[in-house]
Amino acid sequence: MTKGSDLKEQFYDVVIVGGGMVGAAQAAALVKQQKRVLVIEKYIPNSDVLAQIPLRVSAINLASEQYLTELGVWSHIGETSKCMFNQLATWEQRHKPVIFSATDIQKSHLGYLIRNEALQLAAYDELNNTADHAVDIITDCKLTSIDQTNEQVSVQLTNHVSNETIIFHCSLLIGADGAFSQVRSLTDIGTTGWDYQQHCLSLTIKTDFPTQHITWQEFQPSGPKAFLPLEDGYSVLIWYDNAEELQQLVQLSNEQLKNQVLTRFPDLAGEFDVVAKASFPLTRRQANQYIKGRVVLVGDSAHTINPLAGQGVNIGYKDVEVLSQLLEEIDIKQSETLSAVLKQYENIRKRESQLMSLAMDSFYNLFSNDKAAVKLLRGGLLTLANKFEWAKKQVLKKAVGY
Ligand SMILES: Cc1cc2nc3c(=O)[nH]c(=O)nc-3n(C[C@H](O)[C@H](O)[C@H](O)COP(=O)(O)OP(=O)(O)OC[C@H]3O[C@@H](n4cnc5c(N)ncnc54)[C@H](O)[C@@H]3O)c2cc1C
Repeated sequence: MTKGSDLKEQFYDVVIVGGGMVGAAQAAALVKQQKRVLVIEKYIPNSDVLAQIPLRVSAINLASEQYLTELGVWSHIGETSKCMFNQLATWEQRHKPVIFSATDIQKSHLGYLIRNEALQLAAYDELNNTADHAVDIITDCKLTSIDQTNEQVSVQLTNHVSNETIIFHCSLLIGADGAFSQVRSLTDIGTTGWDYQQHCLSLTIKTDFPTQHITWQEFQPSGPKAFLPLEDGYSVLIWYDNAEELQQLVQLSNEQLKNQVLTRFPDLAGEFDVVAKASFPLTRRQANQYIKGRVVLVGDSAHTINPLAGQGVNIGYKDVEVLSQLLEEIDIKQSETLSAVLKQYENIRKRESQLMSLAMDSFYNLFSNDKAAVKLLRGGLLTLANKFEWAKKQVLKKAVGY
C-alpha cells in the first residue's frame, strides 16, 4: 500500500474517496478494466479484527454474492466470517410466522450474514492480487478540496503528520465515503431526508447452540426485534425502539441486557451471553444528484435507507455494478461520452434506490403503527403472504436482489 507522503502529484484515471465495503469493491471492479485507480480511505482495519467479537454485520443477498464472485472478492471471505441462511421468517404473532424458504424459489440459500470488515478486507485482498501500480491506496491524508474543469478533477489532500499538501488529478472522482460524504458536500450536492423516530441497538451474543441458518424478525409495537445468525459461536440481535428507550438500554451491563433480551425477545435456540453492543440512529437520505460534472456518488454517499430489510450495502454493490458496466466501454477522458454515461447511471440507480427507500418506509410505517386499521391491514397482509405462493415468491425475489 502506498502512503500519501510517498506519492508525487500525479494523474489517475479514477480517484475513489472512501474505501469501505462499497468503495473497495468499486476499486476492484475498475482495476479489472485496466484503469489506474487511487483509493483515499481514512482507516483500513487490520485482518486481526476478524478474530475479535463481531459487531457490524450485513445481510448479503444472492445478487451481491454473484457480483462479488465475478469481481474475485467473494473467494477472500473466510468461512468463519460468513453464515449462510436459507430461511427468513417474520411475524407479528408468534404462532403465525410467515416463513420464506430458499426452496420456494428453487435456490440453495437466500443469502449470507457477513461481518462488514470481512467484506471490506476481501476487496483489499483482491486488490493486492492485481498488477503492480494498478492501484494506490492512501490512508494518511485528509481530503481538503475538490476542483474540476471540463477535462479533469483535482483533489487536494493534506498529510496528517507532515501537513504537506498533495494534489492528484483524475478523469473521474467517485465519492464512496458513506452517509456523511465529504465529496458530496465539497461538490455542493444537497440531500433530502429525515431521521426516523426509531433507533437500533445491535447486540452480539456468544451462543451455546448450533449455527442457525434462519434469520427472523418479530414485529412488536415498540419496534422490530431481529435475529441474525453468524458462524463461530456468535449471533447478532437487533433491537429497534425509540431513542430514549435505547439510550437507557445501552447503559446496562451485558448481564442486564441478557435479562432484557430474555424478557423482550422471542426464545432463542439455546443458552447465550451478551458480549458486545452498539447503537445506531436510523436515517433516510437521498443525494439530490448522484453526479456533478466528473464526480459521481455510489453507496451510502448517494443513499442511506432504513436497515429494516438489510438492503443498504446490497444497493451500494448494485451501484458499483451498473457504474462499472457503463464505464467499461468508454474513454473516460472524453467529456461528452463520460457525461452521457454518468447521466445514464444516475437515471438507473436513483430510481431504483428511491423505490427501495419507499418500500422500506412503507414497511416501517406499516409495522411501527398501533392504529387499529393499520394493525388490521398488516395482519391481512401477513395472512395473504402465507396463503399465496405467488405473492410470497415475488417478495422473496426482491429480497434476494432479482
Ligand atoms: C444497524 C445497521 C444495520 C445494517 N444492516 C445491513 C444489512 O443487513 N444489509 C445491508 O445491505 N446493509 C445494511 N446496513 C447498511 C450498510 O451498513 C450500509 O449501506 C453500508 O455500510 C454502506 O457502505 P459504504 O461503503 O457506501 O459506506 P460506509 O460503510 O459508510 O463506508 C464509507 C467509507 O468511507 C470512509 N470515509 C468517510 N469519509 C472519508 C473521507 N473524507 N476520506 C477518506 N475516507 C472516508 C470511511 O472510513 C468508510 O470506510 C445496515 C446499516 C445499519 C446502520
